[in-house]
Amino acid sequence: MEIQMLDLKGQYIKIKEELDREIDSVLNEAQFIGGRQVYEFASALADYLSSSHVIPCANGTDALQIALMSLNLERGDEVILPAFTYAATAEVVALLGLTPVLVDVCEESFNIDTSQIPAVISEKTKAIMPVHLFGQSAEMSQIIEIASRYHLKVIEDNAQALGAKYQMPSGEEFSCGTIGDIGCTSFFPSKNLGCYGDGGAMFTQDDKLAERLRMIANHGQKVKYTHTVVGCNSRLDTIQAAILKIKLNYLDSYITARREAATLYNDLLYGVSEIVLPKEMAESTHVYHQYTILSKRRDELKEHLQKEGIPTMIYYPIPLQNQPAFKERVVIRCETPVALKLSQEVLSLPMHTELTYNQQMRIADSIKKFYKHK
Ligand SMILES: *Cc1c(COP(=O)(O)O)cnc(C)c1O
Repeated sequence: MEIQMLDLKGQYIKIKEELDREIDSVLNEAQFIGGRQVYEFASALADYLSSSHVIPCANGTDALQIALMSLNLERGDEVILPAFTYAATAEVVALLGLTPVLVDVCEESFNIDTSQIPAVISEKTKAIMPVHLFGQSAEMSQIIEIASRYHLKVIEDNAQALGAKYQMPSGEEFSCGTIGDIGCTSFFPSKNLGCYGDGGAMFTQDDKLAERLRMIANHGQKVKYTHTVVGCNSRLDTIQAAILKIKLNYLDSYITARREAATLYNDLLYGVSEIVLPKEMAESTHVYHQYTILSKRRDELKEHLQKEGIPTMIYYPIPLQNQPAFKERVVIRCETPVALKLSQEVLSLPMHTELTYNQQMRIADSIKKFYKHK
């Protein structure tokens, strides 16, 4: 069987009847925008996350943008984010005329190095946007502590870690995305909870902020045709909500499947000293949106695996500060050697809910062959 980076078809087939029935009812009810499924899904997700509010929107990038818009920031205000992330995180900051200030990441967790945040804070700093990269929470207790010390807002980019849990030093456990002022997620098909198109959502525990987020996502209106603020049009389609409502029931089993696949990779690749395997931090559960290894010979290894019919991906090959669009826009007050190193060494192996033991054996054998292990 062909090895895929992602197997959405295989995942669909298993719950096809249930999904088809739900999609059918959307077609029959014909409430394609704002149908009951949108509210049902939002409420089910709020329960799942123990979040006071879940505000659906059109995609994860919009979620980040609307979150920033809700904070009443001014042009030139600064937002701190990790130097190693998907471009969307920095993109929305730049798009709103704000300044992305990059902070290096930790090599072990791929997440923002919180010890370096205080040094880059200026009078213009207004918010921190941690990204829970590859399925594991950033150090939220430190981030919350810094944010309250400097009066900053926290927007969590939780596009990759929906369903992950984070434990505060007090022992209290929270769902990723519900700890900061606003959490944002994406339901892009490849995400851990993916729909069959674009989708996204915002989470908050603050009633006033929830109202603002809802208003901004709906053309800045609370009462129809009365536009209070300049907003945008960002909605989750009913059909996508219907799909997500069903798939949410499987999210925990999907996470379990990903975690089991990660454990198997760890076992199979144990002792291959030329590569570094992903690590799990003590405070966070890992939901393995990606299983990402490090290799000094990353490009050669990728090519070798490709020749053997094994797809891999590089998330992310070009650090933000070297991207043509962001070079002139990002501010770097501390060097970012780890982000640069990661962009040259990361390699994500196939990771999805349908991976089989034999496929993972083949992948591990091929990696061992490359390094001439027996
Ligand atoms: C996927 C992703 C986004 C953007 O989500 P879209 O739904 O594709 O707009 C933002 N940040 C991170 C870290 C992501 O992985």
